[in-house]
Amino acid sequence: MTDPEYVRLVKETEIYKNCTNIVVGKGNLNADILFVGEAPGKNEDLDGLPFVGRSGKNLDDMLSKVGLSFEEIYVANILKCRPPENRDPFPEEIRAHTPWLLEQIKEIKPKVICSLGNYATKFFLSEGNIDKMKEQPGITQVHGKVKFVEIGGVKIKLIPLFHPAAIIYKRDLVPLWEEDMEIVKREVKKTKEQKTLF
Ligand code: URA
Repeated sequence: MTDPEYVRLVKETEIYKNCTNIVVGKGNLNADILFVGEAPGKNEDLDGLPFVGRSGKNLDDMLSKVGLSFEEIYVANILKCRPPENRDPFPEEIRAHTPWLLEQIKEIKPKVICSLGNYATKFFLSEGNIDKMKEQPGITQVHGKVKFVEIGGVKIKLIPLFHPAAIIYKRDLVPLWEEDMEIVKREVKKTKEQKTLF
């Protein structure tokens, strides 16, 4: 069977050739909340699953603090393959890997997407226009704010959150994460009560 276009695009990138596993995602495909991180790290590359390393452990802890678990959410990344030495994603990699993410969004139809950290947030805020990512505000300015964006005809209610890896080192972000997650839960409920997203 031939690969769909979005898989072919990923397989054409150099990071695919150098990775151990493609990391698609994990969690509940019927989830109300989709978390989107940056890219797989070393452990994720070896296991073929997102957020299994240190930041995954922290995400797990942070979710349980607000009464959620991986079974109730879905987690994916902007990039499906690990960049060497965890370097920042290149624009052409984001361009090639995000059509797969959009397919996942269409399948899961989450009520809210939580972008984790700067890369994922700037991707969504630029509405998939990779060249405009640099102009977008950083996570410190937009965390916990409800944003409506549209990418490739898909309407998205976005709530940016601090990346769990950042929270490991900056413990003063913990109460902000908890406040932001209350906003996420409220917005999930609101979306369920509405007929249309926006
Ligand atoms: N950080 C991410 O952004 N994604 C992962 O899957 C792991 C760490």
